[in-house]
Amino acid sequence: MTTGSNALLADPGSGETNRRYREIVRSLHCNIAQWEKAGLFMGGSLVEAEETCYRSDELDALLMAQVLSASGRHVPVHSAKYLDNMRQRTRAIEDQEIESTESDGVNYIYDTTTSAGWTAHTEQSALAGARALNRCLLDVYEGVYRSAFVLSKPPSHHAVCNRELLLAGRACPTMEPDGENPFGFCHLNSIAAAVANLLAQDDGPSKVTILDFDVHHGNGNEDTFWNDPRVQTISIHEDQGWPNSGDEWNHGGEWAPGSNMNLPVPPHARDADWKHAMEEYVFPAIQRFHPGIVVIAAGFDAMRGERPYGNTKLTQYWYGWCVASLQEMGFPLVLNLEGGYTPANVVAGVEQVLMALKGAKQVSDFIADMQKSHSAVCGAAPFAPHAARSRRMAEAMEARAAAIEGNIFALHLCQ
Ligand SMILES: [Zn+2]
Repeated sequence: MTTGSNALLADPGSGETNRRYREIVRSLHCNIAQWEKAGLFMGGSLVEAEETCYRSDELDALLMAQVLSASGRHVPVHSAKYLDNMRQRTRAIEDQEIESTESDGVNYIYDTTTSAGWTAHTEQSALAGARALNRCLLDVYEGVYRSAFVLSKPPSHHAVCNRELLLAGRACPTMEPDGENPFGFCHLNSIAAAVANLLAQDDGPSKVTILDFDVHHGNGNEDTFWNDPRVQTISIHEDQGWPNSGDEWNHGGEWAPGSNMNLPVPPHARDADWKHAMEEYVFPAIQRFHPGIVVIAAGFDAMRGERPYGNTKLTQYWYGWCVASLQEMGFPLVLNLEGGYTPANVVAGVEQVLMALKGAKQVSDFIADMQKSHSAVCGAAPFAPHAARSRRMAEAMEARAAAIEGNIFALHLCQ
């Protein structure tokens, strides 16, 4: 477990608030004895990222790790222009060269076009998050730790930081056309950079899966690896939700057909619906791909009470169940915090995931908790969706089954 305390100062003006992050860290510190006893944290304690993180040749090399583009050539995950642009924007706030707004003692700008904010600390925060994730991914793959969870902000999974990659995939309709801007509260795509870096290691894995269970489509990783058959990208998200991408028929580019899977689940879905989608489509696909490691874009905004960001109604126990199930399959896991905007939700979800990672509860225990939770919320309503709603959900999923199945069976891999 690593956290980036420096990241506390990022983006105070957006829904990506500091409070949710602070609450997680506060909760973890309150329960530190419990977590330490479980031996969960590196060195037996919560590891916090350094206060400052600046660009260096080493970090630039990580962020500019290579992936395959539509033209069949290798291009960097983050372009140099993108990294320079982030530096200029954050420094302009620091030097008060551009007009900014003050909130909570922090000067920031917020751009509604790209749905992203900057403070003078954004560059350092994003760099600290990317570095922490990269370190965890290397350590877990090498077997130093069985799993890791990186708590950092700003999040990463919407960022496509290279114009060529953006245009190669299915461009988000709301994305600015030059593709050299942050997007959706995200500045650096830490997951994409760390995965590309891991694949470049001499003794690295030949295949990696990126699973995104944030309520919003993981467009950043889909676009980045659209033509890279070494990486399987899977996103389960709310249908018709922001950023209006993530259709089920998007299976990957011509260099990597079948490497991408999208599961847009109807709004107002509950644990049983997302559990069904995972068991029916996602888990079998991961097992077939058989990656060397699974990286999870861990957003907690599919939980009940996350409006206006999402209308899905998962409980915290779904996240524990999902992670416990993946761990039971034997894959090394690394999670990176993404969305989730109600602090109580994020704390509850993160804690269930940590329990799953340390093996405190079995898959069956999480299922029992989901059942109890829904009984409490819905009175006498059973865990299984209400009959009429269940039918609508099933019909909606069936309509997509052919596309999803096509994805699974069309999978072509570079061995
Ligand atoms: Zn989200």
